[in-house]
Amino acid sequence: MADRPKIVLLAFDGFPLRAFNKVVTPNLWGLGRDGGFAQEGGRTSLPSTTYPSFATLMTGASQQKTGIRTTAQKPGAVPGWAGGDRCLVPTIVHAARDAGLRTAVVMGDQKLQRVLRLDEMQQVWPPAAVVPDGTELDAHGYPTNAAILPHVLEAAADRDLDLLFAHFNETDTLGHDLGPSASETLACVRAADAMVGELLSVLAPDWDRTVIVVASDHDMTRRLPYPAIDPTTSRDCAGFFDDWIADGCAAWLRLTSGVDAHMAINRLTALEGVENWRWREPNVLLLLAATGRVFAAPWIPVNGIHGSLSTDRTLAIVGGGHTAVADLAASIADRSPRLRDWSPTLAALLGIGLPEADGFDMLELSVLESAG
Ligand SMILES: [Zn+2]
Repeated sequence: MADRPKIVLLAFDGFPLRAFNKVVTPNLWGLGRDGGFAQEGGRTSLPSTTYPSFATLMTGASQQKTGIRTTAQKPGAVPGWAGGDRCLVPTIVHAARDAGLRTAVVMGDQKLQRVLRLDEMQQVWPPAAVVPDGTELDAHGYPTNAAILPHVLEAAADRDLDLLFAHFNETDTLGHDLGPSASETLACVRAADAMVGELLSVLAPDWDRTVIVVASDHDMTRRLPYPAIDPTTSRDCAGFFDDWIADGCAAWLRLTSGVDAHMAINRLTALEGVENWRWREPNVLLLLAATGRVFAAPWIPVNGIHGSLSTDRTLAIVGGGHTAVADLAASIADRSPRLRDWSPTLAALLGIGLPEADGFDMLELSVLESAG
């Protein structure tokens, strides 16, 4: 097939969105200038944390289907009433592999690889989600961007490749530890952008059939000096919930069976520092913290946090020489793509099905809009 696309889905974990600009990220900026990008960024689902966002990005499916609702883990809660720790529906990589296409996965987060079941892939780094001895690790125990780059470039150089998923983690680690605007975090962003430059050179021979999508899973905001929100210490909320799990600036609560749900929601959403909420199921409530505030947990990042509405924006850039890129660029220019819309769109370009997806094929949508 002459126009068989070569798709590169490139993800930067916790990328601080305001750092996407001409000065800090010239390569990403150039890619977006020649291709396209969403002016306001893309949108995550909530909570805006790593595992739920990536499960949705890679499957196109809602959290109800993926079963991945938090990044935090807690015995009894996850896996349990607040979701699972292995994605329940196939990712676009699984679908492509099953359709006989050539796929490659390179990830800077071995735990996330397991959550997405990408450890089942043959062409995956680190193999089976086990980081080889001697790999350079960041402060959270994940491979550095520099450590995964050679694997990304090697996969991208494969002239027969149909789909590459590359995940760079280090921006997330530095954002948490030092803050999204710290000079070290921005230096990491600059270095990541230089890696994009290298990747683009490697893709040059296949440029005419290349579609690159650059995404992130959530934004990052500075933690403000407020105490962490702990619903268990509130007398007003006592008895209204019987379990909970904090996930950064968001928290899942299980309402006590038999309580008046409206009264429970009234009490819980009146907690100091809670800004918003979502009611997902009759007895499951998601609380969202105000900007800069975080829920109490055994580990709370020192400087950078995410999980609520203030961090629900993502990178959303497209590039490449494939004929579909211009339409894709037009589709995202004025309308923020949701993370769940990318996989259905890319699956359609690959000519494969993604039956569990809830997102839109953005190209089909733009055809409908221009016709209407
Ligand atoms: Zn993340």
